[in-house]
Amino acid sequence: MTDNTARLTELAKRRGFFFQSSEAYGGVAGFYVYGPEGATLKENVQDAWRDRFVRREGHMEIESPTVMPEPVFEASGHLDGFDDMILECPECGTSHRADHLVEDNTDIEEAESIPIPEVEEIIAEAELVCPTCGTDLAGEPVDDFNLMFGTNIGPGSSSPGYLRPETAQGIFVEFPRLKEYARGQLPFGVAQVGPAYRNEISPRKGLIRLREFAQAELEHFIDPETDEPPLAEVEDVEVTLYSAAEQDADGGAPQTMTVGEAVAEDVITSDWVAYYLGVAKDWYARIGVDMDRFRYRQHNEGELAHYAADCWDAEADVTAPGAEPDWVEITGFAYRGDYDLSKHGEYADEDFTIFKQYDDPITVERATVDPDMSYLGPEFGGDAAAVADALEALAERDRSAFEGDEVSVDVDGEELTVPVEKTGFAVEETTESGEHITPHVVEPSFGVDRIVYTVLAHSYREEDLGEASEDASGEAASEADDEDEERTVLSLPPEVAPKTVAVFPLMDKDGLGERAREVADELRAAGFEVAYDASGSIGRRYRRQDEVGTPFCVTVDYDTLEDDSVTVRDRDSTAQARVGLDELATRLRTLRAGETSVSDL
Ligand code: AMP
Repeated sequence: MTDNTARLTELAKRRGFFFQSSEAYGGVAGFYVYGPEGATLKENVQDAWRDRFVRREGHMEIESPTVMPEPVFEASGHLDGFDDMILECPECGTSHRADHLVEDNTDIEEAESIPIPEVEEIIAEAELVCPTCGTDLAGEPVDDFNLMFGTNIGPGSSSPGYLRPETAQGIFVEFPRLKEYARGQLPFGVAQVGPAYRNEISPRKGLIRLREFAQAELEHFIDPETDEPPLAEVEDVEVTLYSAAEQDADGGAPQTMTVGEAVAEDVITSDWVAYYLGVAKDWYARIGVDMDRFRYRQHNEGELAHYAADCWDAEADVTAPGAEPDWVEITGFAYRGDYDLSKHGEYADEDFTIFKQYDDPITVERATVDPDMSYLGPEFGGDAAAVADALEALAERDRSAFEGDEVSVDVDGEELTVPVEKTGFAVEETTESGEHITPHVVEPSFGVDRIVYTVLAHSYREEDLGEASEDASGEAASEADDEDEERTVLSLPPEVAPKTVAVFPLMDKDGLGERAREVADELRAAGFEVAYDASGSIGRRYRRQDEVGTPFCVTVDYDTLEDDSVTVRDRDSTAQARVGLDELATRLRTLRAGETSVSDL
């Protein structure tokens, strides 16, 4: 942990952003509480996400249960394959993620996709030891560990269920009904914001690797043949891209280009993924992610799921500026093809397709069979029905097979021959008005907690008050008054800051306290998140608000009682201005929207 990270973690705990849960009982790794400031910050980040990825895109949002029955995860592949590599120390018994041991102690940057036997070899060759007790780990077995939390639904164990490891399945499983809400028309998007659970082998780094975390996921269902994203809206957005090719090349490095250039040069191969990378870049900047510590990294061949065409992760460096970067995946963007819906279509009894109407009906030739069961029955006995099915499938697949006198089909590995005249084979012309297609899915999957942490890490700074006091009126110089010359600031954008404004009475006497409370109350009624603080010097109170990122402070003083005006002070510049109470709410609104600044007032 760098000093900066340690100080941010200390601030987060002291001021109510986040802290480990159940500390009264010793704490439990991977579970965190958002305190009063943190809960509001997280909610504001989620609201900003909804604003951009749901409301602005015209998508719908749903909320589905967090417990789902086992068959869902058989179909999705999580039951079989949602594993991490575990290695247990033979001496102290601590469990480690084997791929993380490799990444932390060798030059290998991505070890997740390396096969287990190779990981075991690397551990032996690099002479890796247990980070907890120093025991040699060469020769220790690495195993698969499934990350899902299991449970039983109802009494007994006959109905196993799992806490969802991602919010996405709650959308895919409900597709048959959701498509009705979209009136069967592609494209449409369905979003979900809520908790996901993963029994991480070694949760670490606070909010970065949790066992219960929040996801904001969008599943955008499209017709791959006809639907195109509005790329023009983002083609000029500049993005820093660390492509798979650059990662593989000697001396390769991330490159900055526009989304338009990246598509033209095939750096990003899916237009849909490119569109969302552009939209997300602007959104990240809007909520306070520092673009100098942000990049998109493409999945390389080993990481890429077999069904996915192109995948990029948004990554943020969460260390202090200038320190050795620590890149953390904060969002995954994937073009998933028809994998998810096809799988559920295969396992479930519902229809996971969309009926795509043709502009004009078309006439098609269709090969059909009508087997003579009075022949197949005696001839093939119990296999007769399977032979009939195989004939039907063959007719659809390869009508030339019916050109001779006999046709052969494979039933359970046995080749069976049927005279063509007994198959009832015919080619018919039919008119079709459309076809059933399985939509493709574009999935931006945001990890809310990691984003909240990134926003905090990127907005955290410690500063000399002398540097910040630029105010023309000279009043800000008085900020460094009594106690300290330094301040800690969270320069959170007003949209996500837990409180928009803090109201102080200059002193809690002579009616100033009452007046200040009235002002705070009026601002709350006008829809602002307001803090009220009457204790300690004004400088101290500014410091307290700076630490939790409150962008504006309002001070009620003796002049207020005379002329109904207050001092408004800006967190970042520490500039101050006098504002009449009759226009305070309006001014704060324009300040919050960034349409004006305190120095301009
Ligand atoms: P994934 O489904 O693994 O691509 O995860 C989607 C997003 O969820 C990631 O980009 C992370 O931001 C977030 N995420 C995944 N695992 C965790 C975790 N254990 N703790 C916190 N966030 C996570």
